Amino acid sequence: MELFSLMGEHDHEQVVFCQEPSCGYKGIIAIHNTVLGPALGGTRFWNYNNDQEAFVDSLRLSRGMTYKASVAGLNLGGGKSVILGDPRSTNREEIFRAHGRFVETLKGRYITAEDVGTSVDDMEFVAMETEHVTGRAQTSGDPSPVTAYGVYRGIKAAAMAKYGSDSLSGKRVTVQGVGHVGYSLCQNLASEGARLVVTDIDQERVQRIVHEFGAEAVAPDAIYGVEADIYAPSALGATVNDDTIPLLKVDIVAGAANNVLGEARHGDDLHARGILYAPDYVINAGGLINVYGELNGWTAERSMRKAGDIYTTLLRIFELSANAGLPTYVAADRIAEERIAAVGKIQQTWV
Ligand code: NAD
Repeated sequence: MELFSLMGEHDHEQVVFCQEPSCGYKGIIAIHNTVLGPALGGTRFWNYNNDQEAFVDSLRLSRGMTYKASVAGLNLGGGKSVILGDPRSTNREEIFRAHGRFVETLKGRYITAEDVGTSVDDMEFVAMETEHVTGRAQTSGDPSPVTAYGVYRGIKAAAMAKYGSDSLSGKRVTVQGVGHVGYSLCQNLASEGARLVVTDIDQERVQRIVHEFGAEAVAPDAIYGVEADIYAPSALGATVNDDTIPLLKVDIVAGAANNVLGEARHGDDLHARGILYAPDYVINAGGLINVYGELNGWTAERSMRKAGDIYTTLLRIFELSANAGLPTYVAADRIAEERIAAVGKIQQTWV
C-alpha cells in the first residue's frame, strides 16, 4: 500500500496508526485539513476486509468532514477515526479507553464523536481518557431536531430556486425513512401545509406519521415512482442511482441521508435532467452544527438558528451552479474549497 501517495491524493495532513495489543484495539485517526480549526469527525467501528480498506475509508470520511464544516461556515477542520474489528465486541471499555488515549495524544488537533458502530456509551469511555470528545448524552443531546430543521430550511431554499417561492404549502413531498430525522422533518413540513407521502421499513413509524400529520403511506420500493415536487431521502445512502433516477418524477431531491448519490456521476445525471439536488453534506449539516454549538457553549436556539442558515448557503450553491453550469455537488465543493483557501490566506499574518 502506497501510504503517502494515498494521503497525497487529497492533501491529507496527518494519519495516526494506533494499537493496544492487550485488548486487540487497532485504530486509525485521519486528519485531512485543519486550516479552519481542529479536525472534527466521529469514530467508526467496522469489520474492514483489510488494513487498506480501513485506511482509505478514514481518508475519504475525514475529507468529507472538511467540506461539510467549511460549507457550513464553522471553524472546524475535517477528521475521522476508524477502529478495525467486530463492532459487536463486548470489551468496550478497554477498546474505547485505548482509543481515547490516542485521541488525547493529539492535544485537541482532533475531536471525536459517535459514528457507525459506536454509541453514546462508548463515548463515555473515550471521555475517561480525553476531553476531546463531543456529542455526549448529557451535553448537546439528540442532534436530530437540529438536523431536521436544517433539512427543512434547505428544502425551502431549493423550492425558492426552483419555483421562485419558498412556500411549501400544498407541495407534495416524499419522505423515505421516518426515523429520528425523518419524523422531525415531517413535523416541520406538515406545519407549513406540505402534503406528505412517506415510507419506512418500520410500519409503526409510518403509522405514526399517517396519524399525526395526515400523510399518505406507500411501500418502500414504491417511493421512487411517486409523482411529487420534492423527494427527501432520509433513510439510507446511495438511493439516487442508475435504477432509481429513471423512476423519479420530482423537481427536487433534498433530504437528510448521507451519501445520497450512488456515485458522483449520478449528481451529473440529476443536473442533466433538470432535477435540483441539494448536496447531502450541505443540507444535513445540522448535526455537525449542533456539536459545534456544544463545543462553543451555544444555546440550543443559537444552534437551531445556525442550522437555519443552510437556506442561504444552498441559495449560493444553486446560484453558482446556474451561473457556471455546474452540477450542484460540484458547486458545493468549490464553495467549501474557496473558504478554506481564503481563510488560509488571512492566517498568513503573524499574530
Ligand atoms: P434513524 O435510524 O433514526 O432513521 C432511519 C429510518 O430509515 C428508520 O426508521 C429505518 O427503519 C428507515 N429505513 C431503513 N431502511 C429503509 C428502507 N430501505 N426504506 C425505507 N426506510 C428505511 O436514522 P436518522 O438519525 O433519522 O438518520 C437518517 C439519515 O440521516 C441517515 O442517512 C443519517 O446518516 C443521516 N443523518 C442524520 C443526522 C442526525 O442528526 N441524526 C445528521 C446527519 C445525517
